[in-house]
Amino acid sequence: MIVRSLRRGFTETARLYRITLVLYLANLAAAAVLSAPMAVLIDESFGRSLSGLALASSFRFEAIIDFLQARRDAIASHFQILGFGLLLYATLSAVLTGGIIDALKSPPRSPFLPRFLGGCGRFAFRFLRLIPYLGAALAGVYWINRSLNQLIVLAFDQSAHEIAAFWVMRGKQGLVLAILLLLAAVFDLARILTAFENRAHMAGALLTSLGFVGRHLVSILALYALLLAAGLSLFAAYFMTGHALLPSASILPLFAAQQTLVLARHFLRVAGFATLMARYRSATGSPLPETEPAPASGAAAGATAFLAALAVAGALWPSRVAGAGTDREAPPESPASAPATAGRASLSRRVVSYDIEASLDPGRNLVSGRETIVYRNETRSPMQDLKFHLYPNAFSNTHSTYMRGISWSDETTLARLERMTREGSWGSMKVGAVRLADGADLTSRTIIDDTVMSVPLPGPVPPGGSVRVEVEWETLLPRTFHRMGRWGGHFDIMQWFPKLAVFTDTGWKIYPFYRYSEFFADFGIFKVTLSAPREYVLEATGVPGETRDGPGGTRSVTYRAEDVHDFAWIADRNALIARRVYREGPYASAPVEIVYLHQPYRRRMVPVILGAVEEGLRFYGERILPYPYPRIVVDDLPMGLGGGMEYPMLFTTSMAWFLPRFDTAPQEVTLHEFGHQYWYGIVATNEFEEPWLDEGVNSYVTRRIMERAYPPRAGRTADGLHAYVAARLLDEGLEAKLGPLTLDLDQILGFRATPFRPVEGGLLGYPVSAFSLDLPGMGDGGFLYSKQAYAAVARDNPIVTSSWGFR
Ligand SMILES: [Zn+2]
Repeated sequence: MIVRSLRRGFTETARLYRITLVLYLANLAAAAVLSAPMAVLIDESFGRSLSGLALASSFRFEAIIDFLQARRDAIASHFQILGFGLLLYATLSAVLTGGIIDALKSPPRSPFLPRFLGGCGRFAFRFLRLIPYLGAALAGVYWINRSLNQLIVLAFDQSAHEIAAFWVMRGKQGLVLAILLLLAAVFDLARILTAFENRAHMAGALLTSLGFVGRHLVSILALYALLLAAGLSLFAAYFMTGHALLPSASILPLFAAQQTLVLARHFLRVAGFATLMARYRSATGSPLPETEPAPASGAAAGATAFLAALAVAGALWPSRVAGAGTDREAPPESPASAPATAGRASLSRRVVSYDIEASLDPGRNLVSGRETIVYRNETRSPMQDLKFHLYPNAFSNTHSTYMRGISWSDETTLARLERMTREGSWGSMKVGAVRLADGADLTSRTIIDDTVMSVPLPGPVPPGGSVRVEVEWETLLPRTFHRMGRWGGHFDIMQWFPKLAVFTDTGWKIYPFYRYSEFFADFGIFKVTLSAPREYVLEATGVPGETRDGPGGTRSVTYRAEDVHDFAWIADRNALIARRVYREGPYASAPVEIVYLHQPYRRRMVPVILGAVEEGLRFYGERILPYPYPRIVVDDLPMGLGGGMEYPMLFTTSMAWFLPRFDTAPQEVTLHEFGHQYWYGIVATNEFEEPWLDEGVNSYVTRRIMERAYPPRAGRTADGLHAYVAARLLDEGLEAKLGPLTLDLDQILGFRATPFRPVEGGLLGYPVSAFSLDLPGMGDGGFLYSKQAYAAVARDNPIVTSSWGFR
């Protein structure tokens, strides 16, 4: 039944090919009239710049998006013009539809053009009166979509059911798509009825149409789904053609391909009407005047064949291209023996040493620990007290300095906060005891204010002297809010121990934990013994040594890390670990073990992430300084909501659950967080006072590595558009509140979800983008590589930069 309607619709449309032609010409003329003033306005506001010109000729989609983002305000002023254009288009469409329907029902021998134009005029006003109804219907769909989104967020946000959430989201999108298709059918049929039965009452025509579509729901839905699929395969064919044409950046063939697509789209539009008419007739046996289908002429057969060929091409191309770009899945290498660190010369001044014993109780979300810290006074001033960071207290209530710093327009963050309040899933750090090596108990003298603890010493520590202090504490892990926490069976145990601030000639550099700030600490040695139930996978900063089974089904591992200024660890019940040892170039004699901790469903990403870290090692190793540690751990966060974050020898990366292969966002996040090993980890700037020195410069180098390791292929534009279409199909993009959980349009286009674009008011220094560093004479980051100059301003006094890394 559907097939018969389709066949009749397409034959009719092919026979009356002049309808398609007139439609094409009318739209072309309208586009020409509309685009001229638009082009002038856009050119005046932001087109006349050198970077604008360069971008226009490069076809680099990502760069264009960046450029447009930077000029958001200028673009915003064009929204009214855009709205005006849309209105004009709606009017034009209403007018032309009358002509299409009238021509389709006309007796074959009446002169075509007068008939078509007559139809346009006769029905234009009636069809225009449908627009408010259409507006109301679309508002209804928007409301349904929004309500369903809220329900899904309520059910899944920050739950561990990542895959279920993904499919529920896809189900919702399918439902909304079906509603939209049915709406299109209802409005199309209403117009057909108006023309055929010469109705003047639009609400009546809509009701009749609604009744018909309601009675034949399945077949109408199938019909419109087929038409949509045909339209999409046209687009696919076009993108592939565009892909092939782009290397030569030749405008003419591209334009020809575009116009072919537009023509085919108009053909499909007419065929949609004709098919719906045929379906209506066959279902109602309606006495609507019917034209006798003439045998398809040569031209008609040709047009149909062309369309079919395009559709087939569209169906075949993507698989070929995807095949060409596929990474070969390398089987994960067998675990390497941990590279030795013993006997290595010290790289830093090692001002501090931590000896920590800590255990995780997953049932209570509690980490209990005891640490012995030795801190050397390297300054010219006597040290009267000790100052510690107690970071987890930032998550203990809504009144912490951290929480008060949250931007109140950040809805995702606020939703998380609401949930923590509802569940009481706060975090905290309770210090049980502070003692000096000689046994003096300082516990009662501690002064704790939010995330900062002061401990007055009985006597000052002179310059060159050391203090040895022992602290016992408990950290309650919050539901992951930012930077640390727990999530189902995954524990990100970061900023988790009482940590000394940095003592300088002018006193302690200590700051409360703030939403838009990062970290600063002294280099030293960490020896940390971690214990957790045996079924948990543990990974951490440093090199694992002795492993021992303990009482109650626990296991402990001792990690040792040298010349680092922080220590982080992860425990996970379900995670898998992939390893690879990198020994090329500067790492031939000092190989680096790359460890990728991931959820089982992320297996596909193993070669991608390990490969990205290798690219980072290669680039930094050749251009700046070989990575000086024997090991790097990548923690792929389940649900991806924690974002990417750096710690010494360990960083977190995150990505959407579903990613098209050509999307390089996971590599970019990985390379960015890897880059922090240098800027945050080695140069170790004071990120609280000068965040841009880390984030800004790192973002710049990330862009450079991306250009080298994943060069913009010719046809990147086509990729970007593919991604766009895929995103539109799978997601509602900006509307999504599930963030990286869904295939977010933003993320695909790189607007927001990658952490190194202007986010959160840019307070962390991300706006120092590739554009602002690409100043004249600074080609390829010239200033950056005059390393001494950078390092001299990079770290707070005192700094030794003899070989630029370290010391
Ligand atoms: Zn960063």
